[in-house]
Amino acid sequence: MITMTDVGKVYKSGEVETHALRHVSVTIEEGEFVVILGPSGSGKSTLLNVISGLDSVSSGTIYFRDKELTRLSTDQMTVFRREHLGFIFQQYNLLQNLTAYENVQIGADIGSAPLDVDELLGKVGLREARDKYPHQLSGGEQLRVSVARSLAKNPDIIFCDEPTGSLDEANSKKVLRLLQELNEDYKKTVVVITHNTGISEMADKVIKMNSGEITDLRHNAVKKDAQ
Ligand code: ADP
Ligand code: ADP
Repeated sequence: MITMTDVGKVYKSGEVETHALRHVSVTIEEGEFVVILGPSGSGKSTLLNVISGLDSVSSGTIYFRDKELTRLSTDQMTVFRREHLGFIFQQYNLLQNLTAYENVQIGADIGSAPLDVDELLGKVGLREARDKYPHQLSGGEQLRVSVARSLAKNPDIIFCDEPTGSLDEANSKKVLRLLQELNEDYKKTVVVITHNTGISEMADKVIKMNSGEITDLRHNAVKKDAQ
């Protein structure tokens, strides 16, 4: 689904050059649950940003199916992102004056073939909370609204940058379990960035990064469910 070949990314600020990505070549298959793992500063966010077109590459190519993303203009990339990509942010970015349902509907409104909002709310365990406002929801519930919103437009791939940063171990597992279910039920490709090594056993593919390079690439033949 995504093929990156020899991708490099250099940030220049004055005299200082930071090689955030070096010779990164990797593929992500349709429907895969991919975890990108590595310490702070290893290039995980940069990798996500260039795959999703939020940032340009310095060298190399990235294909999404047969479309070369690294050739698209900024405007074309914006359209592509809107049609194909979903994001889950660490800050939930929910609109406080809208209900859970209405927040998820905003996601659906963006898509050309959106998912059914009520069905999705049921799927993430928010049927009862449908008409509540964010301040009436627990942190975990707000996160589930934000997950549902990102899925509502029916993207082909969902990116999740450190989704569990503010959650404790038990709750972070709940979130990942939810992502795993969505990956299975909706056949979505999911790419999760984390520095939590505990979640890598849930993935189909684990990409380990250090100093801008892929230091290890592993396929899990049998993936474990989150406990
Ligand atoms: P990670 O997500 O693994 O913490 P990043 O991709 O954020 O790593 O960063 C990789 C390297 O690139 C780091 O050295 C970081 O300081 C640098 N970097 C990231 N973004 C920028 C930027 N916008 N300008 C300059 N340097 C950056
Ligand atoms: P659930 O709704 O899945 O049962 P809860 O919302 O009750 O989960 O709570 C999960 C726990 O995680 C709470 O103790 C809460 O403090 C914490 N938590 C959830 N979201 C956040 C957040 N965004 N920031 C900090 N802590 C959070």
